[in-house]
Amino acid sequence: MRVITLIIIHCSAVRPWQRSSVADIDNWHRDRGWNGCGYHFVVRRDGTVETGRPLEVVGSHCVNHNRHSIGICYEGGLDANGEEADTRTEAQKVALLKLLKQLRERFPRALITGHNVFNPMKKCPCFDAVKEYEGI
Ligand SMILES: [Zn+2]
Repeated sequence: MRVITLIIIHCSAVRPWQRSSVADIDNWHRDRGWNGCGYHFVVRRDGTVETGRPLEVVGSHCVNHNRHSIGICYEGGLDANGEEADTRTEAQKVALLKLLKQLRERFPRALITGHNVFNPMKKCPCFDAVKEYEGI
């Protein structure tokens, strides 16, 4: 297993009626010339956690920080007007917490953070992941 120092949270930047399953994201990321879905996990609106890349495989989700990180994406991130917003459902919040606790056990020293920490031009994941998950 590679060394994991970061667990990076993302949103998929879709509006409330738009779907972004691993299969959808796989298509989008292949269109960009990537080797399929760049995230390791996608958390759907109903709380279902879908597996993208295996943890052993380096992701494509955060420039300069893929090698030592795990990428988690929740479905959403835009409101009906296309504005960036924290659109996480209760089911997604519960699922994210559970997933992060599991990853925390396996990677005790990894920092749980958000994409916006590494790219100030982005609001992704549209909430303060460092603050929300600092206690995990
Ligand atoms: Zn992102």
